[in-house]
Amino acid sequence: MGLVYQQVRLLCAQGQPESIEITVRSHGGIRGRCSHCRQPTPGYDRLPERRWLFVPLWGIATYFCYAPRRVECGQHGVVVEYIPWSDGKRPVTCAMMGFLALWARRLSWRETARAFLTSWEAVYRSVEWFVEWGLAHRQLQGVASIGVDEIHWGRGLRADNFLTVIYQIDAARRRLLWVGKRRSQSTLRHGLKALGPEVVKGLRFVCSDMWKPYLQVIAAEVGQALHVLDRFHIVSHLNQAVDQVRRAESTRLRARSKTAAQQLKHMRWPLLRRGSRVRGRARQKLKALLASKLATARAWDLKETFSHFWKYKSVIWAGAFLDYWCFRAMRSRLAPMQKVARMLRAHEPLILNWFRAKDEISSGAVEGLNNKIRVVTRRSYGFRTYKAMEIALYHNLGRLPEPESAHRFC
Ligand SMILES: [Zn+2]
Repeated sequence: MGLVYQQVRLLCAQGQPESIEITVRSHGGIRGRCSHCRQPTPGYDRLPERRWLFVPLWGIATYFCYAPRRVECGQHGVVVEYIPWSDGKRPVTCAMMGFLALWARRLSWRETARAFLTSWEAVYRSVEWFVEWGLAHRQLQGVASIGVDEIHWGRGLRADNFLTVIYQIDAARRRLLWVGKRRSQSTLRHGLKALGPEVVKGLRFVCSDMWKPYLQVIAAEVGQALHVLDRFHIVSHLNQAVDQVRRAESTRLRARSKTAAQQLKHMRWPLLRRGSRVRGRARQKLKALLASKLATARAWDLKETFSHFWKYKSVIWAGAFLDYWCFRAMRSRLAPMQKVARMLRAHEPLILNWFRAKDEISSGAVEGLNNKIRVVTRRSYGFRTYKAMEIALYHNLGRLPEPESAHRFC
């Protein structure tokens, strides 16, 4: 735009450098550009001087000072000229916003603010700008498989403590596509709408849990796609059931005698792990437990038997195994296991779809992305609002394109 550096001032307070002000002015012979069409345009008038925060130099807060011109564009009328380092009324240069946003992936927002001599608010606004740009410029073509899931966050079990997330889980690409508050039908409808009809029409696989509102919306809106119940969710339902049996039995044993209760002590994690992965003393204890006639041992055995299900190649044999397993679970007299069996029976076709889709979708993707989300929501970013957390999730997991002006300092 034809700029001339006018002066650089180092401002000090009590002998300490406080800020650097770089004042620039426009080159008299070069016309300003319209901020809409970027065409050189005759000048109109000049606005008062503004200050933009720039990337700190030598650890000193640095500002650009400039009095923007207004120009008179034939097409767009009197507008503020195009300023390459600025976006709208934001008081931070694009370079600094990109710089803060990139650091905000590595540090918490509060740490980022402290390290680069600015406020939490400035970091928040910078990440917001970065994410908005990324969402506006991302490509959604070629999304063939999505995973839909609910995430719990914060304290309590109110509806507002859940998020609905939509991931892309194609083997070639995994990323967060959408996040919304609550886990109702309308949340998911909203999310699919946000992705757009083109994306929804192109979906071939949808992976989800057995959460009823999701099942209904997926059947209604993404009918053409193969709906798969995720392996990770089924395994976690089984684990929860084993844990319920263990806890109930532990209470019963403790009421009877202390030595009997010893058998179940410290067994929560060994019981939830895959049997082949339990080692050392826990393994011996597990063996002893399994030799007993305890209900927990039977529940564990059912859970462990179910892991064979995933090894089938043929859908028919897998279906036969599922029937056999459910029959055994129903006869086990363990209410939590019976509950899982009923649930699996009710959703048998969707569970068997897993075998039809397993080569196409990246298995474990939903689980992996969920774990990453937990890292972001738990890490002390100092989120003050839901909106801030939503932005952080897109920022860390959305694999969004980045504005070019973002300085690659890190
Ligand atoms: Zn124009």
